[in-house]
Amino acid sequence: MNFENSLQFARQLDAKDPLKAYRDAFLIPTYGKENSVYFTGNSLGLQPKSARKYILEELEDWARLGVEGHFQAKRPWYSYHEALTVKTARLVGAKPIEVCTTHSLTTNLHLLMSSFYRPQGKRTKILCEAKTFPSDQYALESQLAMHSLPLSDLVYVGPRQGEHLICEEDIYAKIEELGDDLAMIMWGGVNYYTGQYFDLQQITLKGHEVGAIVGFDLAHAAGNVTLTLHEWGPDFAAWCGYKYLNSSPGGVSGFFVHERHAHRKDLFRLAGWWGHNKETRFHMEPGFDPLPGAEGWQLSNAPVLGMAAHLASLEIFDDAGMDRIAHKRDLLTAYLEYVINDVSHNNPHGAGLKIITPKSPKKRGSQLSILLLDRGEDCFKRLTSLGVIADWREPNVIRVAPVPLYNRFEEVFWFGQHLNEALQ
Ligand SMILES: *Cc1c(COP(=O)(O)O)cnc(C)c1O
Repeated sequence: MNFENSLQFARQLDAKDPLKAYRDAFLIPTYGKENSVYFTGNSLGLQPKSARKYILEELEDWARLGVEGHFQAKRPWYSYHEALTVKTARLVGAKPIEVCTTHSLTTNLHLLMSSFYRPQGKRTKILCEAKTFPSDQYALESQLAMHSLPLSDLVYVGPRQGEHLICEEDIYAKIEELGDDLAMIMWGGVNYYTGQYFDLQQITLKGHEVGAIVGFDLAHAAGNVTLTLHEWGPDFAAWCGYKYLNSSPGGVSGFFVHERHAHRKDLFRLAGWWGHNKETRFHMEPGFDPLPGAEGWQLSNAPVLGMAAHLASLEIFDDAGMDRIAHKRDLLTAYLEYVINDVSHNNPHGAGLKIITPKSPKKRGSQLSILLLDRGEDCFKRLTSLGVIADWREPNVIRVAPVPLYNRFEEVFWFGQHLNEALQ
């Protein structure tokens, strides 16, 4: 498509947008600014209007029923998480038995790694991205420490000298090189800093070829890119609910365990009563009997208020469908890329500005990461004062993510106008 950096053109794209009505399903903060732009759905998704209703229903059932709400509530709390399962499975391309929603992301990563990272003999190493998200970094370090293994067993693949993106051939070469030493690959689906989206099917294939376990952190992938986890076949994955999935600050996390492990009672787990056989859970007897599938990794009974917010958002995703979301995402992000490049070419101070996210729509989701070599933080502060909510990452990157469910092409246009002013 031949884009134009004009308000009229942006409005034409909005008028033709098949998802335009979904914006009205969300509460959009304006920060008191005209033409404000919220481009941080990759960090904290916006509130679905229905979230309040769903949370209030649980508060009312709690007030009316007290403990009886576990079985008598409109959506019984005892099995509340089950209301999320089918929609979550569709969202990530999994079978219902493969997914569950509860806890937080880092908690789930630890629970899953406790089962799937079982170093043995010389097969002890973990492969991850260089400069992975800090929580993942600390989680991996502590998993090694738990097995009394040295930090040197954490092997990184990063960008080549002078580059920002990771060359996927380098990942595969490292997997082959590690071979029998590689116990587990723990990789981010979409890199939080650069927005690079990796070929998760190939990573799974290569990892399994050398006999390693493959796990993914999909914090920046779930609700952003189209996932087909069952088919790709990783052993496990987890993501958070509050970024692209709009499920309230610190909201519940989803996780995936491939069907091939669904009935394995031999796997070690850090167990809790909610992962135990539903038939005998209330016998309260010793001897853990895990539920089949992902449910067997639950520790605790459902945090219902957070799950109510998650349900509200999942219903919107289910209604819109990931295919339509992905189609708009590619157009919206391509338009943003065009507008940013147009500003940087025409602004006398635009030379130090560069998008480091991959150009190919197959290699990215919504997010674009803009490298600002010259007075980046000043520019970011000015953008904020003009009403742009974006995200600053040291040392010099602004992350922006237009979200297909609620962002408009018109906001992309205004972002360009504000960026132009902020660069002056
Ligand atoms: C956001 C994010 C987290 C955050 O973890 P929480 O346990 O939800 O606080 C972890 N890892 C990655 C890659 C993230 O993007």
